[in-house]
Amino acid sequence: MASMPRDSFDREIDYLRISIIDRCNMRCVYCMPLDGLRFLPGPELLTPAEIETIARAAVSVGFRKFRLTGGEPTLRADLIEIVERVAKIDGVHGLAMTTNAMLLENLAEPLKNAGLTRINVHLDSLNPDTVERQMRWGNFERVWRGIMAAEAAGLTPIKLNAVVTAGYNESEVVDLARLTLERDWHVRFIELMPLGGGECARLSVKRYVSNIETRRRIEAVLGPITELPTENLADESRNYRLKGARGVIGFISPVSEPYCGTCNRMRLTADGKFHLCLLNDGELDVRGALRSGSGRELDDVAQILSRAVAMKPTGHHLLEGRSTKDRSMFQIGG
Ligand code: SAM
Ligand code: SF4
Repeated sequence: MASMPRDSFDREIDYLRISIIDRCNMRCVYCMPLDGLRFLPGPELLTPAEIETIARAAVSVGFRKFRLTGGEPTLRADLIEIVERVAKIDGVHGLAMTTNAMLLENLAEPLKNAGLTRINVHLDSLNPDTVERQMRWGNFERVWRGIMAAEAAGLTPIKLNAVVTAGYNESEVVDLARLTLERDWHVRFIELMPLGGGECARLSVKRYVSNIETRRRIEAVLGPITELPTENLADESRNYRLKGARGVIGFISPVSEPYCGTCNRMRLTADGKFHLCLLNDGELDVRGALRSGSGRELDDVAQILSRAVAMKPTGHHLLEGRSTKDRSMFQIGG
């Protein structure tokens, strides 16, 4: 079995996040504008067989963990086939998915049966009005039913991701954190990041809320939280527990507390490019190699991936006002 790939900064890169679609059935204010969007035509998306080849190539160079994301991955009619193909590969230790859960209620069990291990649900508030305003087109009841179905199907531990956005949900973080008292879920608060240079990027700068402030809000109402020992050094979330709580509160703080030094991720965009760092523009095309008809696609992809790992930048430059200009979050997958 291949040893774990290391980049030029000696980080072990063994986690591939695969964006399988750029479309979405929500329009979160910091992610997708209402107008001017152009999506990839179907033939430009990677097929289930191509995604499988990439995952096999990734395993051959030492990748172990995989996540499907988007856009909204549940919009792919062939999602179950994609999960089956990736999950059955020898050497895949965990296949997770990030979703807004709008379509999860009927998919949770088939996904589990197909081999999905875990799910992260993006939910910014427990207040249906805020969900409608911040995650435009979202519906709290449907998302909640999706979460319940995921828990019943055993896609656990359930992890909720909330993007804290000034003027929308910043005071509702307390209700989200309170969920961990009764449920063994992970409720994680994410700082806004500007991507793509457009109106969503500008909003992400203007409405940024530091997790230092979010923590203060939570503790002011629910009492002190205690930091938990780090189980996985590459975990982007710093984890805490409220006294007597069953679940975990996590803070993902790319701006106030960057974790680039322990990054273990490579990303694949929906149009088949290895995107070297979420917040930089560097990419290597892989779809061309997959569709070249060379007959040695697996080896070619493995080589491109090894090169992508070697080229990974040290970190982001958000504090100097620089981020990815060519890509938005829904095209990379978060
Ligand atoms: N549609 C799915 C979802 O929302 O979970 C998967 C794709 S979405 C791009 C992945 C993650 O990106 C979500 O958890 C969302 O919170 C996060 N996200 C989107 N835009 C963001 C931004 N500007 N800053 C920080 N996180 C963002
Ligand atoms: Fe869609 Fe996810 Fe972006 Fe929201 S964050 S618009 S749910 S892709």
